[in-house]
Amino acid sequence: MKYQQELDDAYENMEEITKAFKKLGKKKHNKVDQVFHELHDEAFEKIDCLECGNCCKTTSPIFRDIDGKRIAKKMKMSHADFEKNYLKKDSDGDWVLKSSPCVFLAEDNSCNIYDYRPQACREYPHTDRKRMISILDLTLKNVEVCPAVAKIALEIPNKFI
Ligand code: SF4
Ligand code: SF4
Repeated sequence: MKYQQELDDAYENMEEITKAFKKLGKKKHNKVDQVFHELHDEAFEKIDCLECGNCCKTTSPIFRDIDGKRIAKKMKMSHADFEKNYLKKDSDGDWVLKSSPCVFLAEDNSCNIYDYRPQACREYPHTDRKRMISILDLTLKNVEVCPAVAKIALEIPNKFI
């Protein structure tokens, strides 16, 4: 994987990153957002999702009903058949992919249903959203999946000394 080094660096520094993330809950949320959003832009200037695809290869987005219905319609199948063929319920009762890598991932890491992909795919890895302090646990999990999040997380301890 092209960006394995970013994941390895974050893995080695996970203790420091976790400590820094724990402290973020006490900071002003708009300051936390500002730092994440700047680091997000910087990370994605260097990292190209088409050279990675790790999220699509190793995790599943949540498919809301509205996502499943939209995709099923485009695929000219019933929503029930779409769920039966591609999805399962996870332990939280959410619809997720039955298998990984995602069946819609193409060889070149592009998405075969890009224009009507689930909202969760559009928003991943969520490091440019508002109130980052409300998704710090999720972001910490994504450090192990997404090299861009790993890159961002490695900078967080330096930004809040
Ligand atoms: S639907 Fe597309 S963007 Fe979403 S996980 Fe599958 S391949 Fe990736
Ligand atoms: S969002 Fe992250 S894990 Fe997914 S393809 Fe882009 S860099 Fe890779």
